[in-house]
Amino acid sequence: MNQPQHHELLGLCLQELTEIVDRLGEAPYRARQLFDGLYRQRWSTLERFTTLPGDLRAGLSEAGFAVGWPRIEQKFVSVDGTVRYLLGFADGQSVETVWMPEGDGGEAGDGSPSGDEELADLDLSPCHLGRESADLAQARPGKLQRSVCHPERSEVAPEAERSRRTPIREGRSAQLQQSRSTRRRATICVSTQVGCAVDCAFCMTALLGLRRNLTAGEIVGQILAVLHDQQVALPRDRLNLVFMGQGEPFLNYDNFMQAVRLLVEGVGVPESRMTVSTSGIVPRLADFGAEPVRPKLAVSLNAPNELLRARIMPITKKWTLAKLMAALRDFPLRPRERLTFEYVLLGDVNDDIRQAREVVDLVRGLRAKVNLIALNPGPEIPFATPTDERVLAFQSLLTRAGIPTFIRRPRGRDIYAACGQLKHITDLVQVRA
Ligand code: SAH
Ligand code: SF4
Repeated sequence: MNQPQHHELLGLCLQELTEIVDRLGEAPYRARQLFDGLYRQRWSTLERFTTLPGDLRAGLSEAGFAVGWPRIEQKFVSVDGTVRYLLGFADGQSVETVWMPEGDGGEAGDGSPSGDEELADLDLSPCHLGRESADLAQARPGKLQRSVCHPERSEVAPEAERSRRTPIREGRSAQLQQSRSTRRRATICVSTQVGCAVDCAFCMTALLGLRRNLTAGEIVGQILAVLHDQQVALPRDRLNLVFMGQGEPFLNYDNFMQAVRLLVEGVGVPESRMTVSTSGIVPRLADFGAEPVRPKLAVSLNAPNELLRARIMPITKKWTLAKLMAALRDFPLRPRERLTFEYVLLGDVNDDIRQAREVVDLVRGLRAKVNLIALNPGPEIPFATPTDERVLAFQSLLTRAGIPTFIRRPRGRDIYAACGQLKHITDLVQVRA
């Protein structure tokens, strides 16, 4: 697998920056200024680092260093306010990064402050179905209306514009009430690889295959580019990050974790506001559990038994469901933290009430919650979105068994929202053009 030759500063930690500054004959405190400019100030070009002497900026530039932000190649704005970016890197590869004002409810009930906010935002207890049912009805797939917007002249639907400006929906707690007038809340869905090697049968990213890992700088760069475009002020605005874009984060573990540390220490996003989703790279779960700083953990379960999971997630043949569940039982959760199981419902494949009972047996005894996601359909995906009735029956059974279960709010269906969908469709269009 080819890794690009990088002279990007983005992605380097304080120690690495100190070594560079030292080689250029400057004092160590200049590295701290560089670190601060890269991550806290979010300066995108060396010229903007006015805290540094001109000689050092010139020296960095002569040594071949650049900041290394990705370029916004395309930007699609949904009627629901979701913005889907195609971000390009120096070697011509690109990934998707998604901005979701108000999030998608995915963290609701996971025991973290961001989860509490989503719960308050949903204004429901896990067993209250009305609102979710409405969301689900609203999200019926079928009509894909493409709204192509370029960064320089993005046409935002009025609803989207309103939701951009409106801080958050009615909340419950006094704290949320107070924050409403001053803060926005949003979630960015971040990619960790170009494509993915895991080959899940329902996923459009799988169709791309694995092109390459992203560097730590490319992972952080996605977030910086979106924060800049959306004019986010941290820490005033509340930002959640989900590593649920293209790729399998635990197959690019070191770069992913380096990015997490830079986001916490540099950009200022608390670890409690980050969630990583994995398809179940079992040996990495113990490493991840031992990290002093780590996001919350979500696992893509998607099937309740070995046979079906191996069919739709072939990785199960390598790391069985039994091994995955054993590793999760050993996973050291923090106080209040809940493990999240993601379950993509595929019509008449894994959405039967008997399969819901199997999920209950699997998950029983774990401090966990379940997120149900109705399949986001797409070309070349041989599955159907389940009916609302089946989704609600599935949720109801889990909830009655005492497992907090939520239905993820589908976002941006009109702009190709399925994981990997935009990237894949853009590639198809390019190939056919
Ligand atoms: N590779 C990681 C993270 C990226 S995928 C993982 O698999 O967990 C993020 C989530 O999107 C996963 O839970 C996955 O099951 C889900 N997903 C993939 N394709 C989807 C589709 N077509 N519709 C709905 N969810 C999908
Ligand atoms: Fe890769 Fe996740 Fe898609 Fe599976 S669902 S192919 S692991 S990105």
